Amino acid sequence: MTARFRRLAAALRDLVYPRRAVCMGCGTQIGFEEDWICPECRQELAKSWVGAYPTPKGIEGAAYAYAYRGAAAGIVQHMKYSGIHRLAAFMGGDMARAYRFLEPTGADCVVPVPMHAKRLRQRGYNHAERLARDVAERLGLPCVNALERVRNTVQQARLDEHARRRNLKDAFALRESVAGRRVLLVDDVCTTGTTARTCAKALKAGGAKSVYLLCYTVALPKKGGK
Ligand SMILES: [Zn+2]
Repeated sequence: MTARFRRLAAALRDLVYPRRAVCMGCGTQIGFEEDWICPECRQELAKSWVGAYPTPKGIEGAAYAYAYRGAAAGIVQHMKYSGIHRLAAFMGGDMARAYRFLEPTGADCVVPVPMHAKRLRQRGYNHAERLARDVAERLGLPCVNALERVRNTVQQARLDEHARRRNLKDAFALRESVAGRRVLLVDDVCTTGTTARTCAKALKAGGAKSVYLLCYTVALPKKGGK
């Protein structure tokens, strides 16, 4: 096959598969047939699968699709900062799979970790809400925007554990009743669990019977570390 013919064949394939442009996991632009990620990232994701993992205090159960690293981290970054919110449908499938670890007790409604109105205006959408809506649809549960972020907090990623707690104090308020309900709280990343714990506190103060956590990724402690 001549190079010219190969280029022509690749161009035709691009017409047929217009979404195979850039891998959301590693950013590579070489051809791959499947949507969103390249075969290497698909393999890497399979190795990063977490499922059930220790639960932050004050929460009844937690499940995560992947460890926050490599391809999974790339997907989160693209979803959050490159405005590719259609990724929510791709991520939601794996989150629904991880949710099985929380059954049979389970939840009866899905609540996204909220974003402050100011940041929402800047970004145009709340990534956690996109994920929550997709997951809710897959599980056949209602998605309720029960929480609001009343203080525009500094991004948690930049703070240590103590500062995280102080930063989030009174950051969340209830805007819709969840009295008597089993809530599934949804976010993209769980780092130390402080955000989830603070949200759970607000939900339980509002009468929630129990709070479960479902995230696309979890930051696992480094091997050999503390
Ligand atoms: Zn890739």
